[in-house]
Amino acid sequence: MNVYDSGRMADVLAPLGYAPTATPDDADMVILNTCHIRDKAAEKVFSELGRLRVVKQARQDAGQPTILAVAGCVAQAEGAEIMARAPYVDIVLGPQTYHRLPEMVARAARAGGGVIETDFPAEAKFDHLPDSATPQGVTAFLTVQEGCDKFCSFCVVPYTRGVEASRPAAAVIAEARRLVAQGAREITLLGQNVNAWHGDAPGDAPMGGAWTFGRLLRALAEVPGLLRLRYTTSHPRDMADDLIEAHRDVPQLMPFLHLPVQSGSDRILAAMNRRHTVDDYLRLVGRLRTARPDLAFSSDFIVGHPGETDADFAATLDLVRRVGFAQAFCFKYSSRPGTPAAGAPLQVAEPVKDARLQTLLALLREQQAAFNERSRGLVLPVLFIGPGRRPGQLSGRSPFLQPVHVDGPISMIGQVAPVTILDGRPNSLAGTLNLEQICA
Ligand code: SAM
Ligand code: SF4
Repeated sequence: MNVYDSGRMADVLAPLGYAPTATPDDADMVILNTCHIRDKAAEKVFSELGRLRVVKQARQDAGQPTILAVAGCVAQAEGAEIMARAPYVDIVLGPQTYHRLPEMVARAARAGGGVIETDFPAEAKFDHLPDSATPQGVTAFLTVQEGCDKFCSFCVVPYTRGVEASRPAAAVIAEARRLVAQGAREITLLGQNVNAWHGDAPGDAPMGGAWTFGRLLRALAEVPGLLRLRYTTSHPRDMADDLIEAHRDVPQLMPFLHLPVQSGSDRILAAMNRRHTVDDYLRLVGRLRTARPDLAFSSDFIVGHPGETDADFAATLDLVRRVGFAQAFCFKYSSRPGTPAAGAPLQVAEPVKDARLQTLLALLREQQAAFNERSRGLVLPVLFIGPGRRPGQLSGRSPFLQPVHVDGPISMIGQVAPVTILDGRPNSLAGTLNLEQICA
């Protein structure tokens, strides 16, 4: 989502004459777009700011001022604290205020810095942003929903991104059409809880009225030239029946679903305030696999949430074995100030978290490698997104989000073509273009 947000900030600043530069040394303004989800991500901001201070000073000495801004969730959470720790920062802006960047830049230039905007403005950011003008490429992101009302014990999102809000269906469809006109062939819909999206479309039912996320996907599948749809990140509780049916009915919807479970222990899921059990999750996976038998799953896991015992962790390993994941992200629990879990008793010791992380990662890596290995010999439709590392090589994506490398002409970029998979590596696939099938 920060990648998408950074693009939209560039769109807002373009009319002022700003354009992206390759390095901070050439930049009249630097915006650090930050993440607060884990402590490590937040700390990186201050070490990066230390480096940018040197660049700013060197430019200043050469008579070239630099505006330094911190955007995103660290800005939202830390606010004035950022300027106290790094007084050379000129602007601190939260994720809901970036449509006001031009005004902040003018204020910072006039006053020599000191601009802090971390409120949740009454007007919706997206209503005030210009249409995205910078092409994202063959694969594009599109934010449809932001914020969260679920308040998991460990998570800062409801505090930094604010309450759950969905963009109107018409705005999403119009942006998807623009992205396709700019060359996108695959769109990934984004939201902290993307499948909580809900909206109103103009007109009467069945075309207008209240829309679910499943209905939105069906409408997007009708956008001419849009070959593939994905969405992330979903909450298990928001997998409505019509969304499951969309996985059965909508061919553009790729057979890969990121569905975070966090833990395989009911006790820990309750402590996390996840509002689903292990059984709910397994039944959901079963229903999705019935709807779309080749659906591959990915997930997020947190190890070492306060109160997690060896038995709870063993239950997580058990869940992983029962589901079988194509890919997954594992995190050590990171205490976030102001969240309920931060003050909970029975915090898990760091070495225990480390050991559990390594065990879980090893199991998930094994599953990912086995999943990729099973692709060997299959013919998969691959969307080519750019040149590969070697001359003459192309890089693409399988329906299951695996990177695929083949030799082929650059003219294939933006097209879907059948590829015979010759090698299933731990993190990617290698294959050969099926030229007879393409010609036929
Ligand atoms: N909304 C999604 C859900 O409900 O599963 C998750 C979105 S969250 C922005 C991305 C991931 O970051 C979470 O799934 C979780 O695994 C991880 N995460 C969030 N807070 C964390 C924390 N305090 N420590 C470690 N990992 C965390
Ligand atoms: Fe965070 Fe996801 Fe829980 Fe919302 S549902 S609080 S975004 S982990």
